[in-house]
Amino acid sequence: MSEVRVVGATIVADSARVLRDAEIGWSAATGRVSYLGPVRGPARPGDLAGAGRVVVPGLVNAHTHAGMSLLRGYSDDEPLDAWLGHIRAFEVRMTRDDIRAGLLLSMAEMIRSGTVAFADMYLWDAGLLADVREAGLRVLAATAVFGYEAVAYPAATPETGARVLDRTPALAAEFAGDELVQVAFGPHAPYTCGPELMADVARRAAAHDLPVHIHLAETAGEVQESLERNGCSPIALAHRAGLDAGRLHVAHAVHPHGDEDLALLAGAAVTVAHCPVSNLKLGAGVAPVPDFLARGVTTGLGTDSMASNNSADLFEEIKTAALVARGVRRDPTAVLAADALAMATRGGARAFGDRLTGRLEVGEPADLVLLDVTAPHATPMPDPVAHLGYATRGADVTDVVVAGRRLLAGGRLTTLDEDAIRADAAARVARIAAELPVRGRATRKVQDGTTLG
Ligand SMILES: [Zn+2]
Repeated sequence: MSEVRVVGATIVADSARVLRDAEIGWSAATGRVSYLGPVRGPARPGDLAGAGRVVVPGLVNAHTHAGMSLLRGYSDDEPLDAWLGHIRAFEVRMTRDDIRAGLLLSMAEMIRSGTVAFADMYLWDAGLLADVREAGLRVLAATAVFGYEAVAYPAATPETGARVLDRTPALAAEFAGDELVQVAFGPHAPYTCGPELMADVARRAAAHDLPVHIHLAETAGEVQESLERNGCSPIALAHRAGLDAGRLHVAHAVHPHGDEDLALLAGAAVTVAHCPVSNLKLGAGVAPVPDFLARGVTTGLGTDSMASNNSADLFEEIKTAALVARGVRRDPTAVLAADALAMATRGGARAFGDRLTGRLEVGEPADLVLLDVTAPHATPMPDPVAHLGYATRGADVTDVVVAGRRLLAGGRLTTLDEDAIRADAAARVARIAAELPVRGRATRKVQDGTTLG
């Protein structure tokens, strides 16, 4: 029997469709949903009991640097310049296997908190992509480029940006047709890459039919500098370079410059990753998500790196995305729980092209998550969508299915050795940190002259 079922659960098929005491089934052979509707009969051996469970579409992390998770907590509470310097000092010491250790740690955390797919910009090679495939997650992977001559990860690889651009199509070809892996170009940002490199990437992306993932308009300073240097905003500069002629996935867009930038972001082939926790932690600002929704900008949610977030739990992003927009707009309906949930599912899924929809429907990929809703913090649950927006924690996730394969089964990771991954990560962090000067945490003088923190 290749069909697996969840029987008697509350099923949030998408942010606008909730089925109670319902059943969902999928084929382990095809990896697709085979049934969604009323319970057809009692659970059989191998099926999952749905009592006390909510089933949701698998979450999509629309912007990560998964290989950076060894930097979690390394540089908190600092001004952006100091933060960048400390992060960079750590990064240049990371070997390729340190980056792999970070990737494995991130994947364990993502699966545990209900993420099934992630759009990532960091160092990628065939071995790291094979690691994602073995773990069973979906990835849109872009190797970061910081300029033609720049070597981004010197301890990991001597590759320059020019070399990365040359080998990206070959890496994509190696994984062409793979169910789980997609490869993209990853020009880091206009201020690191410049207009000519971006135009070159646009030509290469068109020639090889590959998407592009880039950071745009993360800080007000970046926009101001671009206006002074280029006479236009970073988003307009990316458009002039032709990057939005094909699939363009934009991280941040915290500071679109007027209506023209919003219109560019609303382009049919453009998707945006809103990263509210990272933007708040680094003091970058708050993206105008109500304007994105009003203008039809396809918006997903991303955690960004563990250096600028500390958590890969997308339920934190869902709640923050809903709340921070209300505070800024002074409007409790500015972003609804349903809007934020749609971003974390359908919105992010669009960055993966036609492959994913981020909703549960017969014929769609069986990418789904079971949540335990029996804990005190989850009781009662009058509205499952609002519950997912405000009360759910990643730790409530009990089961994760991607393409019909169970990656988390009853709270146990099936594809990753969690203990070994944690021990390896800790040893590598200790080695790298020993090479770096010891830094205290930022403190603040209070009025009586003592210090806090
Ligand atoms: Zn980023």
